[in-house]
Amino acid sequence: MSDHYERVKIELQQMKEVESEAAADVEQLSPASVSSVPTDVSFTARRDLSRSSINGRSRSKSRSKADGYERQVNAKQLSDLTQQKSDYAQGQSRVSNEPDLTIKGTARLLKGKTAANGHVESCQRQTEGKCEDHGKEDGKCKVAAKKRRTVTVDTSKAKTSLEALKMSIRQLKWKEFPMGRRTACDIYWHGVSFHDNENIVSGQVNKFPGMIEMLRKINLSRAVRTMQELFPEEYNFYPRSWILPEEYQLFSTQIRLLKDNDATLKPTFIVKPDSGSQGDGIYLIRDPADLRAISGSQIKQAVVQEYIQKPLLIDKLKFDIRLYVLVRSLEPLEIYIAKEGLSRFCTEPYQEPSQKNLSHVFMHLTNYSLNVHSGNFVHSDSCSTGSKRTFSSVLYRLASKGVDIKKVWSDIIALVIKTVIALVPELKVYYQADIPPGKPGPTCFQILGFDILLMKNLKPVLLEVNANPSMRIEHEQEVSPGVFEYVPSPVDEEVKVGVIRDTLRLMDPAQRKQHVTSNTGGGSPEEAIVVETGSDEKEGLADSLPSLCLKQVFPKYTKQFNYLRVVERIAVIFLRFLGVKGTMRLGPTGFRTFIRNCKLSNSSFSMASVDILYIDITRRWAGMLPDSREAGMCLQAFIEAFFYLAARRSKALPLREQVLLLLEVCEGALEGQSHSEKPRPHRSHTTTNPASSQSSAPTTFSSPALTRRRHRPLQLSAKANTEN
Ligand code: ADP
Repeated sequence: MSDHYERVKIELQQMKEVESEAAADVEQLSPASVSSVPTDVSFTARRDLSRSSINGRSRSKSRSKADGYERQVNAKQLSDLTQQKSDYAQGQSRVSNEPDLTIKGTARLLKGKTAANGHVESCQRQTEGKCEDHGKEDGKCKVAAKKRRTVTVDTSKAKTSLEALKMSIRQLKWKEFPMGRRTACDIYWHGVSFHDNENIVSGQVNKFPGMIEMLRKINLSRAVRTMQELFPEEYNFYPRSWILPEEYQLFSTQIRLLKDNDATLKPTFIVKPDSGSQGDGIYLIRDPADLRAISGSQIKQAVVQEYIQKPLLIDKLKFDIRLYVLVRSLEPLEIYIAKEGLSRFCTEPYQEPSQKNLSHVFMHLTNYSLNVHSGNFVHSDSCSTGSKRTFSSVLYRLASKGVDIKKVWSDIIALVIKTVIALVPELKVYYQADIPPGKPGPTCFQILGFDILLMKNLKPVLLEVNANPSMRIEHEQEVSPGVFEYVPSPVDEEVKVGVIRDTLRLMDPAQRKQHVTSNTGGGSPEEAIVVETGSDEKEGLADSLPSLCLKQVFPKYTKQFNYLRVVERIAVIFLRFLGVKGTMRLGPTGFRTFIRNCKLSNSSFSMASVDILYIDITRRWAGMLPDSREAGMCLQAFIEAFFYLAARRSKALPLREQVLLLLEVCEGALEGQSHSEKPRPHRSHTTTNPASSQSSAPTTFSSPALTRRRHRPLQLSAKANTEN
């Protein structure tokens, strides 16, 4: 994980002089004690909206909702923007004297022709002669041969990512189809969902089926919670959460007990509507009773979460990190992280929550979409100042204060990999339902937006994951009171064009073909997972392209994280018994067949008990998923049943051991039955944590009339913070 930050360090050295000037007026930061020296916050004073309601009601009506959804932009304005951007492309409009903070591979634009295309052109000239550098195809240079077939991209559904996408395609010299194409394209770029275009039967789509659903706040919390039950230590990067309305009583009881035990505790909670985004509808409370007072008897679907009271501050301001993560494939699992991201700053100096400041949205919420409407918001052409900065500029700043940024970065990588591992089981169910094996369909990839908060002790905390992170490269600017226009945003362009361009490069069908062949190469999918492709060179990308701004983290770090993929193995068994193509729910017969084939019933657990177990769990989950139209047992319910069965077999063991033992039994039984059946269970996954022997507390499922799945013992990091 270190190469990237070795480079950062070198660049840091180079810019030391410039930094030392800037650093003179910033607060002192160190790993142990961060943000203690007061400094002036000298933002340009505009309008004071800083006391506006926390649900953002004061925002201009000219804004529409949802991150990544289309907003109306005046056509003329857009063409002006395009012109301005091409000026940028020529490198003419760099406004500031800021040191260049660009991490290698994230350059805003490649000067002139790309190295890649430059190479291709030079090789084209050699098609008849000799090219020493590459292999041959039809007696000609392979790279030149590749040029013969231009990659095609359907951009007709790209919506707000269109501008950044166009720039990326131009840089790669690929062919864009803005109105779609009668024949198939290689890549389809959707702005919202996999289903933006229902008629795709080949190629690659930039969305996975089910990703939007999985990343709604409740589902994300559920997926992470399942992992927390098995691996509490590994998944403690996600704040303690309760799902509303169903867990309101539990929330109340647990907090009352907590306060009874320690009267000095003053926790704060953040309430987030399930399908909200951009800070909409979010509010802070200090006691569960406040929830009733605010929402009345009808508590809406939401997640209430422990509020991180001691975030890391820069210039006395709270900020969060938006990181772009590419899930390149689910099978085998491939994850890339963009080396550059964005840091979004609050616009009112931070104070720990108190009854007085709970509604200060510009103090507590880092959302750009909210803070842009603060009079204190600073638009900057520099990537290292203002209210939206590059993540690397924040890292430089921290490094210059002695923070171990290598550790911060590797903790972030671990957080990302673990989160994706939590999402994969259900994503596989969605995938199989939409693109059943044997049915013609595209393959999928997706760029996700991870929102991460650094705590004062530098521990990263996951806030949420966006299925449609905004890829806009313009930002809103208030041109006259209440009227906002879109103007080019150099910081956004810097980061987002690199992410899209390099995602495309990784999805280049020629690269992909080569990659898939080398990864599957006659072996099983399990073998493909453990292939180490440690460098871009192995991806076949190093021929002549500039280095990627996306860093592969999985399968690169398979060894460290594969042991966490336990729920995925349960999902593989679930998928095997789903039966009917296109369904996501297991019927009673499928569940019975699972029990029978895995030899789980015996004299003390009859098939009648199996039926009761099925009905009991399925009914309760149906109540928790009121929107679902499909009947039957969903994956989460199956996991609950699996945990119950596991606990029943080996009562004395910790839950994780119980589950692993049952998995061995099931996979062994199924493997013995039919080698030809698909999909095969993932037996080759390492199941023990090489780094830790800690175990979770035993779970007791008392009767088939099941109790809810166990909750972790309550420990709020508000307390942990105090200790740090
Ligand atoms: P949305 O999708 O509406 O943006 P988020 O979960 O990202 O919802 O929350 C909005 C903002 O609230 C975040 O950007 C962050 O600044 C703040 N926030 C969210 N969760 C927490 C938390 N648990 N502790 C502290 N701040 C939080």
